[in-house]
Amino acid sequence: MNKRDYYEVLGINKSATSKDIKQAYRKLAIKYHPDRNEGNKNAEEKFKEAAEAYEVLSNAEKKARYDQFGHQGMAGGGGFGGGFSNMSDIFEQHGDIFGDIFGSAFGRQSSGRRVTKGSNLRIRIKLSLKEIHEGAVKKIKIKRLVPDPETKFKTCSYCNGTGKITKVANTILGQMQTTSVCHYCQGSGKIVTSKSRNANSNGMISKEELTEISIPAGVSEGMQLKVREKGNHAPFGGIPGDLLVLIEEESHPELVREGKNLHFDLYISIPDAVIGCQAEVPTINGKAKINIQSGVQSGKILRLKSKGLSDIESGLKGDLLVHINVWTPNSINKEQKKFFVEQSNAKEFRPQPKNQKSFFEKVKEMFN
Ligand SMILES: [Zn+2]
Repeated sequence: MNKRDYYEVLGINKSATSKDIKQAYRKLAIKYHPDRNEGNKNAEEKFKEAAEAYEVLSNAEKKARYDQFGHQGMAGGGGFGGGFSNMSDIFEQHGDIFGDIFGSAFGRQSSGRRVTKGSNLRIRIKLSLKEIHEGAVKKIKIKRLVPDPETKFKTCSYCNGTGKITKVANTILGQMQTTSVCHYCQGSGKIVTSKSRNANSNGMISKEELTEISIPAGVSEGMQLKVREKGNHAPFGGIPGDLLVLIEEESHPELVREGKNLHFDLYISIPDAVIGCQAEVPTINGKAKINIQSGVQSGKILRLKSKGLSDIESGLKGDLLVHINVWTPNSINKEQKKFFVEQSNAKEFRPQPKNQKSFFEKVKEMFN
């Protein structure tokens, strides 16, 4: 048997990138897809040929072996052998290549059982820090595909409702039995006989539903939650797809989040720093009062234990870290100026940084 060169099959050259390879395969797979070429043996062969070429060229290891040894390198050795004998194996392995073009009934068909899964839906949810802190339940309207109650079906007569076609061929090794997905009903075992105007070819309609989504405390920007079976229904029964929820974090006007810890920049006046004071700081749930000791320095970090967010895994609470900044006024009156001039030579006002922790020690302290 003379096998065509894999690059030739996909119509690409050896310098093609993995993206080019995928695109070339996708184009051919759609062109020769059994849904568009019912009962066309030639198309089926082309479809299998492209799948085989893609199987090899999309895998770095197999591609390297093929580039070096050609088809000789592909037989045996635990590598890729004679290609796909079964169409459903192709769908099982390359189903994602079709995206939503052919719906989920075919693309994600499992070769063993006739279980189909609907496609996933994706949404974004924006949460405030308070909602992230407490966990939230959101009720959201979502449009999903559901079976149209007016659509009528009949059992596929081609496969007798099994969704599979079994063929027996006589070969030199004796009889060989192969099973493939029924092209006529796309493996569902059912054929749509009448449907309402809004239904698609699989007898599905888009319906808006209110879905309740529970979000655990401690989620963060970019996290994806999966709500099982709240995506599109699969045509002709099966399992609905999932609803994938992407978390977005609303920034807080005053607090900055860092993992489970929160940071706040507190500004105090020079007199308050000198004589000590009580200050109010924002927390996730309202204000908190803290005592600032006399002689506090700019850059000091005060830790409010357990005033941070919950850790999503352990549930342990983080801290609120208050960064002290002593505010230096940029305009003062004559009397104030006189006071500071008088104090400028006083030894109490002279910096004594040797007694202070260094910047690095403070940072270290912050992370302990
Ligand atoms: Zn059928």
